[in-house]
Amino acid sequence: MPDDCIFCQIVAGEIPSHTVYEDDHVFAFLDANPLAPGHTLVIPKEHHERLNDLPDDTADALYAALHDLVPAAEAAVDAPASNVGFNNGEASGQEVPHVHGHVIPRFADDGGSPIHAVGGSAPDLDDDELADIAEDIAAAR
Ligand code: 5GP
Ligand code: ZN
Repeated sequence: MPDDCIFCQIVAGEIPSHTVYEDDHVFAFLDANPLAPGHTLVIPKEHHERLNDLPDDTADALYAALHDLVPAAEAAVDAPASNVGFNNGEASGQEVPHVHGHVIPRFADDGGSPIHAVGGSAPDLDDDELADIAEDIAAAR
């Protein structure tokens, strides 16, 4: 683990956190600067910077934990909805370079925005351009 990774230090118990879940691969704890009550971070215990760096079994375990924790976080704070997302890479706003999923409970009229608000200026793409991009993504797998 990198010595200076805050989230590795949280997993190791060197920095305290409000832990909500732990298994062999995954650790989940409350965000220290919550955007809503119940704002939870779900992370692999192993240090990986981006989603695309995760080995398959770790990715599976991370999704399984999210699948459990999203409804749990909503229920705990009586929220009817949530946003679930990863900042994936520095240009997306990822500040802590250790993969983490945000589970942010949402409430009607809470003043927040949908996930569509995270993008920059929206590109104007015609159907041919969309088709090309879809093909390129499929080919890049
Ligand atoms: P990012 O911008 O990298 O997606 O989000 C990092 C998140 O980690 C932020 O929401 C921030 O509040 C949270 N965070 C940063 N340092 C700590 C910490 O020491 N403890 C906890 N619990 N959360 C932290
Ligand atoms: Zn780390």
